[in-house]
Amino acid sequence: MSTSVSANLAQVRKRIELACQAVGRASDTVKLLAVSKTMPAQAVREAYAAGQLAFGENYIQEGVDKIAALADLPLEWHCIGPIQSNKTKLVAENFAWVHSIDRLKIAERLSAQRPAHLTPLQVCLQVNVDGGSNKSGVAPEDLLALAQDVAKLPHLQLRGIMTIPEPAETEAEARAVHQQAKRLFDHLKTAGLTLDTLSMGMTADLEAAVAEGSTCVRVGTAIFGARQ
Ligand SMILES: *Cc1c(COP(=O)(O)O)cnc(C)c1O
Repeated sequence: MSTSVSANLAQVRKRIELACQAVGRASDTVKLLAVSKTMPAQAVREAYAAGQLAFGENYIQEGVDKIAALADLPLEWHCIGPIQSNKTKLVAENFAWVHSIDRLKIAERLSAQRPAHLTPLQVCLQVNVDGGSNKSGVAPEDLLALAQDVAKLPHLQLRGIMTIPEPAETEAEARAVHQQAKRLFDHLKTAGLTLDTLSMGMTADLEAAVAEGSTCVRVGTAIFGARQ
């Protein structure tokens, strides 16, 4: 298994490099977040042995347990899943990043509960860019106001936005939705916010996301294999 995680990681890095080359970007402008949800701590150790430091988890309690089991490693943990109010304290105390903030109440709780001895929680706002009705994420028209409010919270540092578009049928379709996300991101910057993170692209669409300006791809299946 160790050879497969490390071989898979090498392949994903190659995909990112080629996707960057295709549009004239330097490959170090795209961060790789390894999404380890449902995978055992041992799989994370294998990825770490192959040089991977940043990991994403969706389910808070599972993530917190894995963080504890891997506390001997210098890993950077990102919360990328939905956050209920009763889980904000766990998130504030255990993660370095959150990509999935979609309402002010959750951001306020995270800021209030971030322990003073830790650096500010690095956060992105999840945007429902393609209007999928059953999905979380702030609506594009409400994004700027939310971003301005979150940027004021003392123990959070607003870094950018995250999107999880519906699976696209074609490369062109995938690129169109990622392009919309890039426009929203640029709009926030034009409005005066200092942002550097456009979190978009997963196993199926990382090339399209990189082509449209993603700075962080979140990849699970291509690194760890299919989930149960
Ligand atoms: C599961 C998940 C991923 C990774 O998806 P893959 O298709 O396995 O690469 C990325 N982002 C989020 C928010 C996820 O829930």
